[in-house]
This record gives sequence, structure tokens and C-alpha cells, in this order.
Amino acid sequence: MGGVRLALLGAPGVGKGTLAKMIKSECNVPHLSTGDMLREAVSKGGKLGKDASEYMNAGKLVPDNVVIGILREKVMECGEGFVLDGFPRTERQAEALEGILADKGVPLDMVLNFEAPVEVLIGRLSGRRQCRDCGAIYHVKNIPPKKSGVCDACGGELYRRKDDRDEAIKVRLKAYEEETAGLIDYYRDKGILESIDAGQQDPDVMFKRIAAILKPYLVN
Ligand code: AMP
Repeated sequence: MGGVRLALLGAPGVGKGTLAKMIKSECNVPHLSTGDMLREAVSKGGKLGKDASEYMNAGKLVPDNVVIGILREKVMECGEGFVLDGFPRTERQAEALEGILADKGVPLDMVLNFEAPVEVLIGRLSGRRQCRDCGAIYHVKNIPPKKSGVCDACGGELYRRKDDRDEAIKVRLKAYEEETAGLIDYYRDKGILESIDAGQQDPDVMFKRIAAILKPYLVN
């Protein structure tokens, strides 16, 4: 057994990234975030990054073929277990994932679907701040840094992601409804979907529920 194979589904701002990091350490599997992969490509400044950044800054989905190519590479080079965060986001990506996993010879074990009211999502996204240096995430009200604008962990500068600006937030939530939400039924029909209330609960409480679901796969 090379570890659990999970995908996290849910609208932007629902907390997938935070939970994925917790699952990563408890299940000892790599955290594969297509958002992080794309941001890394953007920071390197090559053609792929330049093309992707236009979509990302506007809050739109990056074209399927680009994202599928990046994800395939990472899944192929990692071990047998992983937690996917932010992929798949379209039915075409879900079908591509099946092909990638068939090539790798492993199944997707479970899809965790996080649900929260839209007002909660907007509040979380608009108040989110990220460290430019270490990537740590804060929130102006819910998780404020000790000193405004400065990362507690490394002293780096905190900034508001371009796609966390109000206009882009609207576009991202619309893209989720139109292109991603259909995957809930897609995975329910396959019998591997578990839904989790991510509205008001803090991540530790949510993680307890996830830990119960993932019990057979936890390392400790
Ligand atoms: P995230 O950090 O997951 O919120 O992703 C940030 C942005 O990266 C998204 O708003 C999209 O522009 C892009 N992105 C990340 N994952 C995908 C994906 N699976 N398909 C298309 N675009 C993606």
C-alpha cells in the first residue's frame, strides 16, 4: 500500500489548501496543488507561466490541456499516494485523471467534497493574505498576523493575490458553478464521494471528520 489517493473538491475559499496540508502530514502523501504548480510556473516567467497568469489573474480556469499536462507529469513522478487539491475542475480533467491513473496502474480512492455558503467563501477570499516568501496564509480577521502585513513565520511581506480581488472572486465562483460543480454528481455516481460541511467549522474540527473517513489510511 503506497498511501491513499485523494482528490479535494469544493469552491474557491472553502479551505481545500489548508486541509490538504493537514492530510499530507497525517497520511504522509504529497500535496499536488495545480494552483501552486501554476503559480510556480508564473514566477519562473516562461511562456507557459505568462499565458497562465492572464487566466489566473482574471479568475478564469486555465485551459484543460495546459493543466492536464502539468498534473500528469507530477502524478507520474510521485509515489502511489497523493492528495490532489484543485484538480480536477472540469469533466474533461476528471476523464484525463482516469487515463493518467490507469497508466500508473492505481485507482482514485476517494473524493472529499467541501461545502460552504457563498457568503462564507467571499468573506474568506476577500480577507485572505499570503506571504510572498514562504506562502503562509493569513486572513485579516480570522487568522491575523501579529504585525499587520508581515508574516509571523518568516517576516516576509503579506499580499493580496490578484485573483482574491473582488472582480476575480466573482469570476472564480461562477467558473466553479458552471464548470466544476457537476463533478459532485460525477464522483457520487462512481461511489467514491464524501461530502464535508466546511461552513463554520475550524480546520481541526473538520480534520477530525476527515480522519474518521480516512482511518484505514492514516500513518499514526
Ligand atoms: P487555486 O490556488 O486552486 O485557487 O487556483 C488558482 C488559479 O489557478 C485558478 O483560479 C485557476 O485560474 C488556476 N487553476 C488551478 N487549478 C486549475 C485547474 N485544475 N484547471 C484550470 N485552472 C486551474
